[in-house]
Amino acid sequence: MESCSAMAKINLNQPILSPSPLPRNTISNLLHPSPLFFSDRKPFPSFFLKLQKQSPLADNYIEATPSIKCHATLPGIYSEASTLADIDWDNLGFGLIPTDYMYMMKCARGEGFSKGELKRYGNIEISPAAGVLNYGQGLFEGLKAYRTRDGNIVLFRPNENALRMRAGAERMCMPAPTVDQFLETVKETVLANERWIPPAGKGSLYVRPLLMGSGSVLGIAPAPEYTFLIYVSPVGNYFKEGLSPINLVIENDFHRASPGGTGGVKTIGNYAAVLKAHTAAKAKGYSDVLYLDCVHKKYLEEVSSCNVFVVKGNTICTPAIKGTILPGITRKSIIDIARGLGFEVLEQLVSVDELLNADEVFCTGTAVVVSPVGSITYMDERTAFGDGKVGRVSQQLYTALTSLQMGLSEDQKGWIVKLK
Ligand SMILES: *Cc1c(COP(=O)(O)O)cnc(C)c1O
Repeated sequence: MESCSAMAKINLNQPILSPSPLPRNTISNLLHPSPLFFSDRKPFPSFFLKLQKQSPLADNYIEATPSIKCHATLPGIYSEASTLADIDWDNLGFGLIPTDYMYMMKCARGEGFSKGELKRYGNIEISPAAGVLNYGQGLFEGLKAYRTRDGNIVLFRPNENALRMRAGAERMCMPAPTVDQFLETVKETVLANERWIPPAGKGSLYVRPLLMGSGSVLGIAPAPEYTFLIYVSPVGNYFKEGLSPINLVIENDFHRASPGGTGGVKTIGNYAAVLKAHTAAKAKGYSDVLYLDCVHKKYLEEVSSCNVFVVKGNTICTPAIKGTILPGITRKSIIDIARGLGFEVLEQLVSVDELLNADEVFCTGTAVVVSPVGSITYMDERTAFGDGKVGRVSQQLYTALTSLQMGLSEDQKGWIVKLK
């Protein structure tokens, strides 16, 4: 066994630790559920560990990770679970940092998910005719695990993500994990990657569940097989501005969603559809794009990946959820928190005029948290808010939400799920 001397890189010629692949749908598995699934135990009890030779593709992935201490030894995995990964925790952005494990579970069309497994993080194999590749039958979710100052690991309202994935799956003709399966598999994936959860206050572990039609189709139809996959990445701020105000541009020609479409679910195609406007806006120096309703081109919808709020006096308005806007969990939480703080919160049509006459504007989302808006450009005219400073209401709501998420204030609403 290698010793845990400083900064040993993974030896790519060595076999690495990997959970044993468990046969699916066997009678014995149904009678004796895998200890890797729905258990409160630490991942990888030793009797389930097996040395497995890696594929060359997986090797490339491991190679791309930052240097890792003491990786390739059997006892290493236990000591590492509590040791932090060796990366620069002070400069996390919102980019992918590959971690140790991902979760995968498959099922056939018309059936439910029953059993999955943690795997070494790496490339997946998929049919060229997969429904997700050909017809965009796919959904994603996004949530964060935090390390609190008193040493806990927590999730914020993960049951809401589970329910939203189920609603989206129904819209996209896919089977979805149950709420319990979603919660257990997220928990298991987070704990298996524990050393990648940033220290308290430095960021969070972004958890990305995917649901996709992985079976082959040629004619347009729901795929015959589905894959649920969870991977994670440590993240810092989404916008390079951090809590400093962002600059948005209102898009007049391209639309994100239309009535009767899929704007209200986190389906993958919604994001490919905004790339053109998003890329053009970024090239002009804007942080992101604010979309209008596609019928009147007059009412606000949302930003590429976050919801929008407009503050005037003691009133906070946000566009109502009517199928074209993604029902954000941060949005829902901020509405609750703001009402608790004495604000009047209205979910209704919000016009561009109201927006431009607001005292403050901010965006909400898991990735962006609460991001104050410093300026909005509409028809080439720029309207600034709050002299480049963070607005009072945005700051107040940001503090209230993040204190709750990071365990600094009491969780009276039962939004925090403790993993450890
Ligand atoms: C994910 C997402 C949001 C924010 O939802 P949260 O649950 O708050 O993270 C808002 N708008 C769009 C388009 C999204 O994809």
